[in-house]
Amino acid sequence: MGTASLTKLVIVGLGPWGLCALERVISGARRRAGDDPAIRWRARVHVVEPAAPGCGVYRMDEPDYLILNNACGQMSLYATPTDGPPPRYGVGFYDWAVARGYRWVGDECRIDPSGRPLTPDDYLPRRIMGEYLSWFFDTLVSEAPAGIEIVVHRTEAVDVTAAPAGKEQVRLADGSSVIADHVIVTTGHTANASRDDVPGILPVPWLAPYPVTGTLAAIPAGSTVGVSGMGLVAIDVVTALTVGRGGSFDATGGHLTYRKSGHEPTISLFSRTGEPYTAKAVGATDVTGVYQPVICTPDALDALTGRPGARRLVDARGELFPLVFAEMQVGYYTQASLLAKGAAEAAAVRRQLERAWSASTFGPAVEDLATRYGPYDPGSDFFADDTATFATSKDYAEHFRAAVEDDLAEALRDGGSSPLKVAHGVLRSLRDAVRGVVEFGGLTVESYLDFQAHIRGRVKRLEAGPPALRSRQLLALLDAGVVRTPFGPSPSLHPGEGPGVLLESERLDRRVSEPVDWLVRGHLDDPTVDRSASPLMARLYAAGRLTQLHYDGVPVGSVALTRDSHPIDARGRAQARLWVFGAVTEGTRYFTHYIPSPKSRIRAVEDIGACVEAILA
Ligand SMILES: Cc1cc2nc3c(=O)[nH]c(=O)nc-3n(C[C@H](O)[C@H](O)[C@H](O)COP(=O)(O)OP(=O)(O)OC[C@H]3O[C@@H](n4cnc5c(N)ncnc54)[C@H](O)[C@@H]3O)c2cc1C
Repeated sequence: MGTASLTKLVIVGLGPWGLCALERVISGARRRAGDDPAIRWRARVHVVEPAAPGCGVYRMDEPDYLILNNACGQMSLYATPTDGPPPRYGVGFYDWAVARGYRWVGDECRIDPSGRPLTPDDYLPRRIMGEYLSWFFDTLVSEAPAGIEIVVHRTEAVDVTAAPAGKEQVRLADGSSVIADHVIVTTGHTANASRDDVPGILPVPWLAPYPVTGTLAAIPAGSTVGVSGMGLVAIDVVTALTVGRGGSFDATGGHLTYRKSGHEPTISLFSRTGEPYTAKAVGATDVTGVYQPVICTPDALDALTGRPGARRLVDARGELFPLVFAEMQVGYYTQASLLAKGAAEAAAVRRQLERAWSASTFGPAVEDLATRYGPYDPGSDFFADDTATFATSKDYAEHFRAAVEDDLAEALRDGGSSPLKVAHGVLRSLRDAVRGVVEFGGLTVESYLDFQAHIRGRVKRLEAGPPALRSRQLLALLDAGVVRTPFGPSPSLHPGEGPGVLLESERLDRRVSEPVDWLVRGHLDDPTVDRSASPLMARLYAAGRLTQLHYDGVPVGSVALTRDSHPIDARGRAQARLWVFGAVTEGTRYFTHYIPSPKSRIRAVEDIGACVEAILA
């Protein structure tokens, strides 16, 4: 073997996932050059990105009140360190921020030697993640070994068409084009052209949540705003309309009090389920790869899917989630018994539950443990809204507040020790197990639709919430009357008599209807291919190079892909020189919205790594 011929590669979109692709190229090339200089990867990598390379949604001009949803010690674009001295870019986010001089000055994360040091458990502004990603990109490029040339195009890709000799031509918005052997598409959160889920014609437009400093500026102080959603995006919107308008929080004891600026509107939160998010446990570690399941095991999942034989389609709610819930109970009771009686008892409880599962006596075993350690039913935790009924708006508002408060108390238990939060951590650690069953059409069509509409969001609610700080702030905003929850779950929207919109409760015994002046979308849609606002996606779809995933001949959104990430064209052929990763593949894949990093965020690194190996090896 000797020096390879030059491969021309285009990475379209350099947010965190495109950056991960570049890292895989450069780390792979460095490893090979180190092993034997004669065995080199030779590649010209064209990076196409109109914005700051590497940053994606983490804009460096964002206000600091927009913070990350992950502790800084858990994030690293250098996710698979190898033996020997790391390259200069081989630095995780926490170490980078410390080395850069970031410290806490009051609530602000600043470069200031007089501040308090950061800890790996801290949640930093997204702006600083943008700086890290930008630094990572620059350092990565400067460390590219001989044989790897990087060409940056600060513009958008608008089309990819077949070129002679099996190559691809990438057309760019600046009028130029690039001929390549392979094209990796990592375009992330591309917008959709139109929304079809807004009922009727409403007299006010839905405001998009981002950028928070742009769209939300139209909302005047003292007006009323309905925010649809109660997850991470809604929290950004609430924070922008309060802290972003000059409001602040005073801390007294463990409590926060909101001090109004007078510039904020009154915000009514509502959502389909009506259940608030759950916060991440303070100081908890990511147990992915550490937690060893005893019930939701690879063998049990193979029995479900029929692997390694002919694939059997699975019902997620009826067949997969009972295993997941049982495993969460194992996590819960192992932790509860550990706290009560120590490690030997915890090991005994774990064994007891494992044996009970095999002997089909799991229910009685859990009942027994519930008498000793308290009840925990993951099904009710997960589908918390299914059985909830509320007589009045006040009942619902009290339920909402109590849910935030109770969850916060669990999140604050010492070092992530809450059994409830441990159970949620087990759910997170099973992400790959769930992927193995549901991805690439692994569910029946009914279950696929159920999974997308009712299960995916609920998993996210339990395992991918914001930091506990946000719950403390939300409680203070509820107390101040700046945030309200008057409508109960699933309110309907109607044109009002005046210029606003009428929100009307649908699941309260005593109906409530109130007008709001503005509506803000407090959630993001997944990017689609059939109604994408991205010229690139729209053209690839119109040309039949991208198609939707189909079930029984019915298009169900997302992009049809082979398991090794090639889109499938309208004639059913894999596009061998195109590769697609990230948010646009959600549906065919599962859980694609994260910064590639170790543990529960490693899948992107593995999938993109396999693509780069296949292209360059
Ligand atoms: C507001 C917000 C906050 C989030 N916060 C977190 C968080 O705290 N932690 C976490 O783990 N995840 C978070 N996420 C999830 C998010 O999916 C990932 O963290 C990350 O952004 C995914 O990276 P990406 O590269 O796939 O997409 P993006 O970040 O969207 O980057 C895609 C890039 O592609 C470029 N692009 C698009 N089309 C073209 C084209 N035609 N030509 C050239 N370039 C193009 C865009 O300019 C962009 O830079 C957040 C998501 C959002 C929307």
